[in-house]
Amino acid sequence: MSTFLELGLKEPINRALTDLGYEKPTVIQEKAIPQIISSTDDLKAFAQTGTGKTAAFSLPILELIDESNSNVQAIILSPTRELAVQIGKNIEDFCKYLKNIKVTTVYGGANMDTQIRSLKRGSQIVVGTPGRTVDLINRRALKLGNVQWLVLDEADEMLNMGFKDELDAVLEATPNTKQTLLFSATFPREVEAIARNYMTNPVEVASGEKNSGSENVTHEYYSVTERTRYPALKRIADLNPDIYAIIFCRTRRETQEVADNLIRDGYSADSLHGDLSQGQRDSVMGKFRKKTIKILVATDVAARGLDVNELTHVLNHKLPDQIENYTHRSGRTGRAGNKGISIVLVNGKEKGKLRQIERIIKKKFIEGKVPSGKEIVQNQLMNLIDKVQNTEVNESEMSEFLPNIYEKLESLDREELIKKFVSLEFNTMLKYYENSKDLNDLSSRDNSRARSTDENMTRFFINIGRKDNLNPGKLIGLINEQNIGDKIEIGAIDILDTFSFFEIDKNYEDKTLEAFLENQPDFDGRSVNVEITKKERSGGGGRRGGRKPFGKKDGGFGRRRSAEGSSSRRSDSGGGRRSERRSSDRPDRASRSSGGERKSSGGFGRKRREN
Ligand code: AMP
Repeated sequence: MSTFLELGLKEPINRALTDLGYEKPTVIQEKAIPQIISSTDDLKAFAQTGTGKTAAFSLPILELIDESNSNVQAIILSPTRELAVQIGKNIEDFCKYLKNIKVTTVYGGANMDTQIRSLKRGSQIVVGTPGRTVDLINRRALKLGNVQWLVLDEADEMLNMGFKDELDAVLEATPNTKQTLLFSATFPREVEAIARNYMTNPVEVASGEKNSGSENVTHEYYSVTERTRYPALKRIADLNPDIYAIIFCRTRRETQEVADNLIRDGYSADSLHGDLSQGQRDSVMGKFRKKTIKILVATDVAARGLDVNELTHVLNHKLPDQIENYTHRSGRTGRAGNKGISIVLVNGKEKGKLRQIERIIKKKFIEGKVPSGKEIVQNQLMNLIDKVQNTEVNESEMSEFLPNIYEKLESLDREELIKKFVSLEFNTMLKYYENSKDLNDLSSRDNSRARSTDENMTRFFINIGRKDNLNPGKLIGLINEQNIGDKIEIGAIDILDTFSFFEIDKNYEDKTLEAFLENQPDFDGRSVNVEITKKERSGGGGRRGGRKPFGKKDGGFGRRRSAEGSSSRRSDSGGGRRSERRSSDRPDRASRSSGGERKSSGGFGRKRREN
């Protein structure tokens, strides 16, 4: 293993790296830095996030750049604002002792005039998102005629995000003599096409095997159904008292829903997705970095620029649409020499994707079992006991209070004292998991039930849907609130945009109608209306005939069941009649919820205000 000096970097750069705590180069740095310093050949680098790729392309550029020339000499494109800002900051750290180097970062959603003024003052290095970079080129505020290095960072993601035209425009605005450095974690056809069309005989370097997952990451999968997906997620979080994780979701809606549920249930969680303003995103990311939030629920795109090295877990609430994105997700953990676990929750249909992913990551998934209540309690308890063992006692501050405490506890012997103390911290949790169901068992039952078509069900139309923030859990809650009967079976649920469908045990058809009519419930301020739909199933494809409500063209009866809720639900099971337990029934979770209240660090204990 070489040192940074041996790779050809000058002393001021080396000093800055020492300040940052970089002791030795990473694999990609060892390969890319001397290559870029010694040759003007284009470079294609296979590198995941977390491999040290930013330094791999920035350091050689800093080594070679002409400090006395204030023209733009290097343009670095990155898919997201967050990543661009992070690269800009990294480069500023690297050139701390190169006083004449200026870096400007340009990205959408921020004041363009400020960016233009910064460019006018002269910057040798510009980092930008594709859209804003092209805007500034068109306004002639950014001139790339003297560019010597063009870096395309996370090229696969830029293309995924639809920046093909912008990449073409930037590539066209730079001179043919430049050196192009393309960094990507995956090399799908579109990235290869960019390499083919815009690079000349590129040299290839890799930080490991192409497209393979990080060596330090273990991949696990858990079988769930739509009913057990969220409870399983919570149990996995509960099993790991020191969890620090990103939960990946496919859509903004799914992200917000999962985050809202976790926050409601007392977890230290928040969401990160494209519907948030830049200010909100910065605030969430800041809290997550500082660990005031322990669980970040995010879309793939929003989490791109997040540079956190100590994640214990990556949780895939749902697998990404594009399988290649799994490597990006799982690569967020197991960084900087740490071990990490990437967990995937899959239903019966999604399981097939695991094989495809295994081929890409060249590793096997290990099957995990959703932990039982007992396992969770045991783990949390032992964690608490470990903490007690390792707690330092501040003798001088305590001594004043001790005599009084000893006197009060005089009547209790050691064992009683331990039991009381543990109960104080754990009663809520013990109660919560008392009689908890085996979710693995429920999943397999649901999967077999989901396959059978049930002729004993009546299908109802309800006039609320996704736009009213309805989800399967809330619909079950609403049905249960009507007191239709004990242990009634709820079947398939289809949530559509403005209305939905649910199935109820045929024997309760009339009672269901009567209950809704009598109770006249409302949902989020909308009065609820329920009707029986005609049941016309066409052979097994899940299509349903019938009327088109509200004259909508493809109003839902003819649509396939939505992915959101297709499994049968029984109202007496864990997620049934009491499926949406109130948050006051739930144990408190460690640290701080996004609501701003700091909670006991002892896991499931009492809430304590610290401020
Ligand atoms: P990157 O892949 O560029 O996002 O880097 C991932 C993380 O590793 C960042 O936090 C870097 O600061 C850190 N890093 C990069 N290179 C090194 C190195 N040689 N030694 C220690 N940490 C590094």
